[in-house]
Amino acid sequence: MDPLVGLDDEQRAAVMAPSGPVCVLAGAGTGKTRTITHRIAQLVASGAHPVDEMLAVTFTTRAAGEMRLRLRALGVPGVQARTFHSAALRQLRYFWPKAVGGQLWPVVEQKLRLVALAARRVNAGTDTATLRDLASEIEWAKATLIAPADYAASVTKLGRDTSIDAATVAKVFEAYEKAKVAAEQLDFDDLLLHTCAVLESDEAVGREFRARYRCFVVDEYQDVTPLQQRLLDAWLGGRDQLTVVGDANQTIYSFAGASPKYLLNFDRKYPQAAVVRLERDYRSTPQVVTLANRVIAGAVGESARLRLRLRPVLPDGPEPTYTEHPDEAAEARAVSERCRALIDAGTPASEIAILFRINAQSEVYEQALAAAGVSYVIRGGERFFARAEIRQAMSTLRTAAGRFAEVDAERASAEDADGTTTPRPGLVTTVRALLEPIGLSADPPAAGALRERWESLLELVSVAEQLADADPAAGVGTFVAELDQRAEAQHAPGNGGVTLASLHAAKGLEWTAVFLVGLTDGTLPIQHADTPAAVEEERRLFYVGVTRAKQQLHLSWALSRTEGGRRSRRRSRFLQGIAPDQPAAAGGRAAPGRCRLCSGPLRSPVEIKSGRCGNCPSNADPAVVEALKAWRKQLAAEQSVPAFVIFTDATLLAIAERQPSDDAGLLKIPGIGRAKLDNYGEQVLNILSKHASTTSS
Ligand code: ATP
Ligand code: MG
Repeated sequence: MDPLVGLDDEQRAAVMAPSGPVCVLAGAGTGKTRTITHRIAQLVASGAHPVDEMLAVTFTTRAAGEMRLRLRALGVPGVQARTFHSAALRQLRYFWPKAVGGQLWPVVEQKLRLVALAARRVNAGTDTATLRDLASEIEWAKATLIAPADYAASVTKLGRDTSIDAATVAKVFEAYEKAKVAAEQLDFDDLLLHTCAVLESDEAVGREFRARYRCFVVDEYQDVTPLQQRLLDAWLGGRDQLTVVGDANQTIYSFAGASPKYLLNFDRKYPQAAVVRLERDYRSTPQVVTLANRVIAGAVGESARLRLRLRPVLPDGPEPTYTEHPDEAAEARAVSERCRALIDAGTPASEIAILFRINAQSEVYEQALAAAGVSYVIRGGERFFARAEIRQAMSTLRTAAGRFAEVDAERASAEDADGTTTPRPGLVTTVRALLEPIGLSADPPAAGALRERWESLLELVSVAEQLADADPAAGVGTFVAELDQRAEAQHAPGNGGVTLASLHAAKGLEWTAVFLVGLTDGTLPIQHADTPAAVEEERRLFYVGVTRAKQQLHLSWALSRTEGGRRSRRRSRFLQGIAPDQPAAAGGRAAPGRCRLCSGPLRSPVEIKSGRCGNCPSNADPAVVEALKAWRKQLAAEQSVPAFVIFTDATLLAIAERQPSDDAGLLKIPGIGRAKLDNYGEQVLNILSKHASTTSS
């Protein structure tokens, strides 16, 4: 097939640019992946490079596979399309005997075991979740080119949020590296590190490599890590035959060390580069595109600089839907029924996806889909009942059920004798107590694997709650039987089906109908995203989710985790100004007791005073807050009273947020009555109007 067919002008410009540096900076669904595959085909067709001089890298094995298929369809089978890791492994295997001698050391098979060995040597925790967190910290450090000795200082400098103390991680990291070398093994990151080292330091190897590979292509370049970039530089060895494509708004692996700076600074590194921007969105309907643009328009701080606007070109489709549910089970049921209806109406199941933030969310969907008779596949995650912590929990519960059954039998015969019994705690309390030693702490761990484990175990508690509601007499035995049934239903064989995937695993993919579920604050953005930068990464994840939909997009959230539970959750702050306001907040004014931004409930006195819940960011101009505080400080000094007597901080913030322009506006703010208005109203309005005129000029 002609590689220039099926492209728009900008895509064609990128495809036809002569061999040399090319950068395609473009939003989701604009055809970046399509452009690079066509460019590879074009470079071959034009005779610029034979097939075996090219190396295409992308982020997942699946994406690499898909790229090879597309290349085959374009008539250029045989181009290497790999992940960074698989490319490095292949190269290292070839060069190792020359550069190091002997055969390539094997890749560590059981990494956690090695981490455990290291952790034991330095007396750190060795439970599975801690080991997983240690492993991912070590991976982050290596991806960021940070050595064990520099780890602690780097964590402090970067303000990195870790669930394990940095000095401990550093010690385990060092012991892990030593143990690995002693065992003559390599981990995945070593494959990249050693390939870099060999190419950088061994002249002969470098020369041979450069004679063999002359042209490189990278997809999803916004998520490249410093280590991968170093490998790319080693491959290039000062040459510039490099095509990169990416979308800074889809950077979702910063936590693992990735950075969009290489993409964004590409034209500084290669001033001669052809830089192409694509705007037309060929994937999604105008309705989905409009929503995607609005999501990314909400970006603040550094991210705001990067936003791109997508231009819709496809015919109209249905409007995205927004649905609030009383609880998670109701949400899952409604979504599953909708999937069923779509399939019945002719949409192939493989064209439908349910996307969520964390893997623990999949259980309730696995359950509901099974109940609705809809088959499903899980991408990039394990089935709920196959997870290590759930298998461990099941075995603990089963043992306990057996023990209780014995005790009950003894009791029954004792009762015959004296007729008295001691009541046993309820099912939910018992289940919590049983799961506590295996990771269900009272307070949720900050983040990482420990947190995921905790969330999974909590899912079991919510099943216990449902069961106890339905059958107050249910004991652990009944609970285990219920879980067994659920596990069985989930394991029902199915071929293909609706995709269940985390937002991270959905990158680069597309479906006709997409359900974005569980959109509550605390889940998206995730609770541990407590810095502005972390919240922005969560917003980008939301954007990635929205832009997966070709035709239909359904967004939903639930106010309670458990059926009939307290409706204490709030919809995601990212829906503010996007989803229609709740009827209570219609007309732009919040109903009493409701947040004026997200219309969620207001709880603390501070929230009530500001009319804004703790989850919604303040929109106050810091300069106005400062001006008001300075005024209050001076007045308090003059009158020899504490500052709060004039106005509390909460009232000052509320004034700065709402910017009233007259007395009536001031009086609407809780904490300002007639007396305060008479004493301070004029001065406050003066400060506000002075500030408004400076900003407008
Ligand atoms: P993402 O950022 O999500 O990875 P992308 O920019 O890589 O998206 P592609 O997956 O290459 O986008 O393309 C999105 C969809 O649009 C695909 O179905 C692709 O076949 C289609 N497409 C791309 N360019 C064109 C075009 N010029 N004409 C028709 N369809 C196109
Ligand atoms: Mg792509």
